[in-house]
Amino acid sequence: KTKWPRWQSSFIMQLVEASVRLQGKTALITGGNSGIGLATARLFVAEGAKVVITGRNKETLEAAAKELGPNAIALAADATDIAATEAAIKRGTETFGKLDIVFANAGIPGGTPLGSATLEVFEKVISTNLTGVFFTVQSALPYLNDNASIILNGSVISVLGIPGYSAYGAAKAGVRAMARIMASELSPRGIRVNVVAPGAIRTPIWGAAVATPEAEKAFEQRIALSTPLGRIGEPDHIAKTVLFLASDDSAHVQGQEIFVDGGAVASP
Ligand code: NDP
Repeated sequence: KTKWPRWQSSFIMQLVEASVRLQGKTALITGGNSGIGLATARLFVAEGAKVVITGRNKETLEAAAKELGPNAIALAADATDIAATEAAIKRGTETFGKLDIVFANAGIPGGTPLGSATLEVFEKVISTNLTGVFFTVQSALPYLNDNASIILNGSVISVLGIPGYSAYGAAKAGVRAMARIMASELSPRGIRVNVVAPGAIRTPIWGAAVATPEAEKAFEQRIALSTPLGRIGEPDHIAKTVLFLASDDSAHVQGQEIFVDGGAVASP
């Protein structure tokens, strides 16, 4: 068996630590039991973080916690319920310590075409995708370390005029505006607030459009045609950008929005 001299093993340990970007950090990820949130939770744990994930579905929360292992806990909390969100954050930080990262990611689709949208659906989309994001950040504030990083999940639909998405697009445009204002308000504590804005990503959010292999293939082809890079995005594309925004690699990035969309927003 190889025995490394002490100076060599300490050098190797330094290399390992340098390659793990979130060592000693605690992160909250709302909607961490599916899609983009779960991919981000996996990456964060692999990068050395302790992760608190929330969502509403107890079964998928349990499955995610089992998969993520001892450095993650999964707590049921509806993002539209401020008291439940506060309680989850309190419990999560009692377990893992104060937060260094918040990824306000929970969101729903919800078609709201001008001719047929109901007030109920419109308000549900706004309350989850906009109000829920605001109160997640507000609830996390007392539990945030100085110099923390907050990332909000936006969407290309905040800038592209895609029919049927009035409430969703309005909520995500609101997320961009809120991020800039929160960034100003929280800069004195060194806290950064940025937005990751995905294009179409392969996750369960697309519901029936990806429910069968045939439907998924047709959906992928449609997305590929409207995306300069010619493909649908994967949850890991977003997770890696969130990791950049969460880590010190983005230490001077404040109040920005990064589109991760294969070029959809940039194309004419
Ligand atoms: P998923 O449906 O896979 O994930 C959505 C997550 O949000 C789930 O974990 C869900 O958990 C959680 N969630 C929804 N409503 C609530 C609520 N009221 N309270 C707590 N958790 C909630 O979709 P994605 O991973 O694709 O979506 C994640 C984010 O990415 C959303 O904000 C979405 O708008 C955004 N996005 C996604 C795009 C895509 O193409 N996939 C494109 C642009 C943006 P549970 O059901 O257990 O509550």
